[in-house]
Amino acid sequence: MTNSYLSSAPSEPLDVLIVGAGFAGMYALHRALTSNRRAIAIERGNGVGGTWFWNRYPGARCDIQSMEYSYSFDAELQQSWSWNERYAGQPEILDYANHVADRFGLRPHIQFETTVTQMVYLEDQKLWETQTTNGDRYLSRFCVMATGCLSSTNLPDFDGLSSFQGEAYHTGQWPHEPVDFAGKNVGIIGTGSSAIQSIPIIAEQCKHLTIFQRTANYSIPAHNGPIDEAYAASIKADYDHFRTQNKAMFAGFGAHQTRWDDSVFDADEETRQARFETRWQEGGLGFSSSFNDTGSDLTANQIAAEFVRNKIRSTVDDPVTAELLCPDQVIGCKRVCVDTNYYATFNRSNVSLVNVKDQPIETITPSGLITGGQEYNFDMLVFATGFDAMTGTLLKIDIRGQDGLCLQEKWAEGPKTYLGLAIAGFPNFFTVSGPGSPSVLSNMIVTIEQHINWIMDCLEHLSASGAQTIEATQEAESDWVELGNTIADGTLFPTCNSWYLGANVPGKPRIFMPFVGGFPTYVEICDQVQQTDYRGFTIQ
Ligand code: NAP
Repeated sequence: MTNSYLSSAPSEPLDVLIVGAGFAGMYALHRALTSNRRAIAIERGNGVGGTWFWNRYPGARCDIQSMEYSYSFDAELQQSWSWNERYAGQPEILDYANHVADRFGLRPHIQFETTVTQMVYLEDQKLWETQTTNGDRYLSRFCVMATGCLSSTNLPDFDGLSSFQGEAYHTGQWPHEPVDFAGKNVGIIGTGSSAIQSIPIIAEQCKHLTIFQRTANYSIPAHNGPIDEAYAASIKADYDHFRTQNKAMFAGFGAHQTRWDDSVFDADEETRQARFETRWQEGGLGFSSSFNDTGSDLTANQIAAEFVRNKIRSTVDDPVTAELLCPDQVIGCKRVCVDTNYYATFNRSNVSLVNVKDQPIETITPSGLITGGQEYNFDMLVFATGFDAMTGTLLKIDIRGQDGLCLQEKWAEGPKTYLGLAIAGFPNFFTVSGPGSPSVLSNMIVTIEQHINWIMDCLEHLSASGAQTIEATQEAESDWVELGNTIADGTLFPTCNSWYLGANVPGKPRIFMPFVGGFPTYVEICDQVQQTDYRGFTIQ
């Protein structure tokens, strides 16, 4: 099957142009096509999967359990697909993405290896004109930006960066062919999730691994393993119920875990430790909900944090290394990591930890790097330095809305959206899981499905009412931004330099980007907007 719309000059404008073919782009494409809309997706990579296409570093794995981190929109899909592991690794998730693309016949509608460079709203025609690196030009009524939150890598502008003569990789742009660590001296910069997942595996394979840590992170064991077949079968017996229960959770996942809603201050020391231990043994992100106030009360948070620090101290043999690995920021302020053997890896004789907090990396040299006046030599450098999250990819595209309004200028002081779905001044232009959406604070696939369903219902509404355009009002957008900021300011999130705040990228405005009011509240608001004739939008 071919799709003539992929040609550079389709005879008629498209209904929907989707940017990205990760989980959001694929579902948007499927929904658009099944509604008989003329639609295509444009994708930078040569395959589907988005973040799971690019992040092929050793140990890459989802921190949400497989039975939850999957599409719910098709009953047969969720019945027929079987996960192998409790937490699926990147290869298995990419297999799933490919399976979905094939099962729903999406590939002929995706323009691969193509990067969108410019999108301009043509006011007189009420159409968007999209240009790509291939020189293609598409006209479409609607645009859906399924560009992902963690799709633009952050490579710090280290002095001497290009001088390094050895192998150099970024975890977020990992090669497709296997990387051979055997017999090599490897240096890794960063200790976020990507580093914490890859360090134990690289350490097992290389000659020596040196880890350059600026900020220690909290990590909870995954206790990963083969999926419990009986558990998977019990979910499949009533998958809808399981999905409904998860959607009622604050972050759209975790309903299978015991729910406790008491304060840490109501528990005596023995009960606290037992509760934390239970969560630690269960593993994963559920640790953060051991009590109802560890995310909101600083003292409660420090009690939970100290439990993790004591776990680090009891795992890591060398007390100096252990203390260096003990984080001092609020637990959960940066996304908590989920690992396999991370802290125990520091007991290996071929692993060393270097603190670059007080003595930043001065320069990259042809043979390694210098910090604290000392040169370290490597065969390979791994940059696990994260992403220009949530806004990076959108702002790389020259996007111009009404009256030539440029998104880069509009967002110069920080991103502003209405519901994380629309931007004032940019009609018929939708964002998915970007700033203002529960996004990275939720199960991304759950949020993606909700966003796309909302957008596609909106397009149906416009068709049915004969309207041509929908645009967020300035007032609704400002109110949404203010609401997001107010809720975020009432949490402990703004207390550290996280990528949620853009604080990891020099010069990026410091704004808490995801909506932190919880997935169920967010859905309720979106539903109300829809039921009140799209309150906060101008429809014409
Ligand atoms: P990250 O959390 O932003 O970590 C980047 C690391 O690089 C941090 O330790 C950071 O230190 C360090 N760094 C950055 N610039 C540096 C510099 N100039 N000098 C020294 N160190 C520097 O990025 P990530 O690990 O790729 O993870 C990003 C997000 O992706 C995660 O939070 C998570 O949401 C997602 N992810 C999820 C999974 C999963 O599902 N399990 C796996 C991987 C990633 P500072 O902390 O001091 O800035």
